[in-house]
Amino acid sequence: MKILVINAGSSSLKYQLIDMENESVVAKGACERIAIEGSKLEHKVGDKCVVVEQYMPDHTAALQLVLNALTDKEHGAVKSVDEIGAVGHRILHSAEDFKGTVLVTDETIAICEKNTPLGPLHMPANIACVKACREILKGKPMGMVFDTAFHSTMPKKAYMYGVPYDAYTNWQVRKYGFHGTSHKYVSGEARKYLGRDDVKIVTCHLGNGSSLAAVKDGLCVDTSMGFTPSEGLVMGTRSGDIDPAVIEYIMDKSGMDIHQTLNYLNKKSGVLGISGVSSDFRDLAKAAGEGNERAALALDMFAYRVQKYIGAFAAAMGGLDCIVFTGGIGENDKKMRERIMNGLDFLGANFDKEKNENAPRGTIAELNDGGKVKILVIPTNEELVIARETLALL
Ligand code: ADP
Repeated sequence: MKILVINAGSSSLKYQLIDMENESVVAKGACERIAIEGSKLEHKVGDKCVVVEQYMPDHTAALQLVLNALTDKEHGAVKSVDEIGAVGHRILHSAEDFKGTVLVTDETIAICEKNTPLGPLHMPANIACVKACREILKGKPMGMVFDTAFHSTMPKKAYMYGVPYDAYTNWQVRKYGFHGTSHKYVSGEARKYLGRDDVKIVTCHLGNGSSLAAVKDGLCVDTSMGFTPSEGLVMGTRSGDIDPAVIEYIMDKSGMDIHQTLNYLNKKSGVLGISGVSSDFRDLAKAAGEGNERAALALDMFAYRVQKYIGAFAAAMGGLDCIVFTGGIGENDKKMRERIMNGLDFLGANFDKEKNENAPRGTIAELNDGGKVKILVIPTNEELVIARETLALL
């Protein structure tokens, strides 16, 4: 069976068509700038890449364009949409309503709509895409795979905030965690690689948005992101953990309102805000190499925060067997991996600089020189998790 995986952002729609016979990607692509001037679709089948520049007023129009591309006589991947057996949707937030993947029904859509305030940027686009798919691909079975679901096994002491309990019971204020499909995939691959299920793993998903998870015996017991993806590590443009008093203080000093201040903390902070250079780690490394002290500081702060969370999560699990690096930075940025691992030998993680330097891309790599803690690079595959879970649901 072929499964279409849909990952919708507020102005984007990424997709992959996966053949579940051999879990291969038949076609993939992305629509960008939906409802913004200059919308375009980039569609790839094998070595072929087709770009369609056409205005897409909404996600329905984008989806229609994707289906046209997938069934196109010249650059399509299937003869007709009948060959698509099911659709798997990536959905940001499950709140406490779902602990795993669910079928798309009127009822599950209504629950997602109720939870929109918990993810005001992503949920409307996620739901719009689900509805558009239902409209265009009538009767096709669809699954919703939540970014938060893998973290639903956290114990209460980990997910509660130290605020009045009513905030939890009345308003669902708690830590949820994100990047769940990635943490699930790489921790599963790590357990397979180690040949054991009873392992304590810290998974480090380091990309534009970054988060860590503590995964004990296959279950998430803690994670660095929180009520929203703003909590935790210093990220590309997000501040991560800060003292909440900073918010009022910045508002007073700057005259910004609460929305502007949160935008400042989410879009203008992180390594971009510290360096004043870029949120991209390649730019930061270049600038730091040329003597830019703030770029060097941003890289140091990023690594330091990751180190602190690794230490905290080892303590949370009562030990550590494996550290996994994934995401754009985790998979590609050797220097950052070295910075993070530098000083963690006390955990029993003997980092081999040479193995790190020569680690092949796109496959699992081991960065150990002995030691009791395995250090692995594992390329993530969130789309495959979404397709597998959708298939399992059927
Ligand atoms: P997203 O969170 O949007 O999925 P990715 O996981 O693709 O992002 O990570 C993107 C980030 O990965 C880029 O902003 C860049 O900082 C970093 N990155 C990608 N490739 C490299 C590389 N070769 N060296 C250093 N950093 C890289």
